[in-house]
Amino acid sequence: MYLILLGAPGAGKGTQATTLSKELGLPHIASGDLFRENLGKKTELGLLAKSYMDRGALVPDEVTIKMILERLARPDTANGAILDGFPRTLEQAKALDEALAPQGKKVDKVLYIKVSTDELLRRLAGRWICRACQTPFHMVSNPPKVAGKCDACGGELYQRDDDTVETAKNRLEVYFAQTAPLIAYYTEKGVLVEAHGENSVEQVGKELVAAVRG
Ligand code: AMP
Repeated sequence: MYLILLGAPGAGKGTQATTLSKELGLPHIASGDLFRENLGKKTELGLLAKSYMDRGALVPDEVTIKMILERLARPDTANGAILDGFPRTLEQAKALDEALAPQGKKVDKVLYIKVSTDELLRRLAGRWICRACQTPFHMVSNPPKVAGKCDACGGELYQRDDDTVETAKNRLEVYFAQTAPLIAYYTEKGVLVEAHGENSVEQVGKELVAAVRG
């Protein structure tokens, strides 16, 4: 089963994808995490991606599509995958459809997590993430028990370079211009399911699991 988590930056895609991945036993593939891994290793791809990520812009389609299709060719995706942060443009969505079709596969469901713009800005500007396990915290609405430390694994919390207010605004503009058209694309294909992303993490999770199983 191939699932896509769709929604603006800060909508909770990563959090929900982690839960769904455990629940369904499918690998969680996050394009942003793959770029950050490459950046950490200082690969050519990572350094190229950084120049876009720092501005809150999208990394070019060609590079992004190649990276994801290579990841999807690995054996752990034999039963499908949960895609988080990809596709983000119509071109990426079409490339994914075209890559799956010859294998008799398709995108089964697109889980769209809907959150208002004000809430997204509030979330992004206060977000801190665990360097070790990627669990997100929020300094106001979901602070860690011990400042600077992850509740789940004790790892160090850090603020992503692209989670400043200015970059967050850019990322949202890019989302509305380039990614939001995917809502119509997948609605037409009859695979879009919408969840209320301002409910609690648990409630959103339940809604999504029910949508996938239903
Ligand atoms: P994320 O962790 O999903 O918020 O992604 C962080 C940054 O990585 C984005 O702001 C983009 O610069 C880049 N990125 C992640 N996924 C994509 C994608 N599908 N297409 C283009 N750029 C992406």
